[in-house]
Amino acid sequence: MMTHSRHTKVMIIGSGPAGLTAAIYAARAELRPVVVEGMQPGGQLTITTEVENFPGFPEGIMGPELMQRTKAQAERFGTHFLFDEVRGVDLDGRPFKVMTASKGDWTCDALIVASGASARLLGLESEKRLMGHGVSACATCDGFFFKDKEVVVVGGGDTAIEEAIFLTRFATKVTVVHRRDELRASKIMRYRAFENPKITFQWNSVISEILGTPETGVTGVRLKDTVTGEERELPTDGIFIAIGHQPNTAIFKGKLEMDDVGYIRTKPGTTRTSVEGVWACGDVQDSYYRQAVTAAGTGCMAAIEVERWLAERES
Ligand code: NDP
Repeated sequence: MMTHSRHTKVMIIGSGPAGLTAAIYAARAELRPVVVEGMQPGGQLTITTEVENFPGFPEGIMGPELMQRTKAQAERFGTHFLFDEVRGVDLDGRPFKVMTASKGDWTCDALIVASGASARLLGLESEKRLMGHGVSACATCDGFFFKDKEVVVVGGGDTAIEEAIFLTRFATKVTVVHRRDELRASKIMRYRAFENPKITFQWNSVISEILGTPETGVTGVRLKDTVTGEERELPTDGIFIAIGHQPNTAIFKGKLEMDDVGYIRTKPGTTRTSVEGVWACGDVQDSYYRQAVTAAGTGCMAAIEVERWLAERES
C-alpha cells in the first residue's frame, strides 16, 4: 500500500465528543484540523442508546445521532477526517510525528489527544473464549440477540444499570451481579432498576467463571459470594460486562505523564499535558466526570489553548 507523509497544524486523535468539539473550535479558528477517527468513530456514545442529559435536547437524543450531528458540524467548518487508527507517536521534538495504520505518517505542530476510554473486562479466560458467543460489553449492540432469554449484567454503576434496563426490552429476566451490597449508580437509575419487575440482584457476588462453549454459547455463570466465599451456579443465556472503563493510552506510555491507572495527567485548570504542544481532553484524561458534556467542554478548552499557543508562536 502506498503511504505518504503529510503535515497539518493541528491533529486530533479521537472522534468522540471531546475530539469533535476540539475539531469544531479549531476549524472555526481556520486551523484546518485533521481528525483521526479511530476504531470506533464517534466514540462510546455510538454504543449507547438515549442520551438524556446533554444540554439542549429536552426530549433526549440517541448517542449515534448526537455524534453524527457533531461530526457534520466539524466538517462544515473544514475539518478533515481520516478513517484510520494511530499506531504510534513520536513526541520527542516538534513537529510531532503520528503514525497511522493505513494513511501513512503525518506530522503536526500541535497534537490533541482525545482517544477516550474503552470498556473494562473481567479478565477471565472463559470471558475471552465466549466473547461474541453470549459474552458482550455492549447491550445496545447485542441486546437484540437475547429476545425472550435470560441475561446477567455485571457491575453496579450507571452503565450496568442503564444496560440492565435496556435489556429488559428483550430479555425475560435480567440479573445484576454486583460485588457489593449497594449500587454505585445514581439515585434515579437505582430507582428505575428497583422499580423494574424484570430486574433482580445478586449482591456481594463476583463471577468466577463463565460456563459454556463457543458451540453452545453461554449456559451459565459460576458466582462467588464475596462475604462467605461460597460458590454456586446461575444458569443464563448471556452476560453483559459493565464494570467501567480504561483509558486508551497504550501508545502514549512513557511519552506523556499519566496517573497509575493510565489516565493522562493535565496541568490543573488546563488541558496541557507534560509535553509542550500536546493537549489531552475527554475521557482519556478524566476518570471522574466522564460525561459527554464534560468531554465536549475539555475539547473546547484544548482547541482554544492550541489556537492561542500557535498564535503566540507565529507572532
Ligand atoms: P463506574 O466506575 O461508575 O462503575 C463500575 C462498576 O463496576 C462499579 O459498580 C464497580 O464496583 C464495578 N466493578 C469494577 N471492576 C469490577 C470487577 N473487576 N468485578 C466486578 N465489578 C467491578 O463505571 P460506569 O461505566 O458505570 O460509569 C462511568 C461514568 O459514566 C460514571 O461517572 C457514570 O455516572 C457515568 N454514566 C452516566 C450515565 C447516565 O448518566 N445516564 C450512563 C452511563 C455512565 P464498585 O461499585 O464496588 O466499585
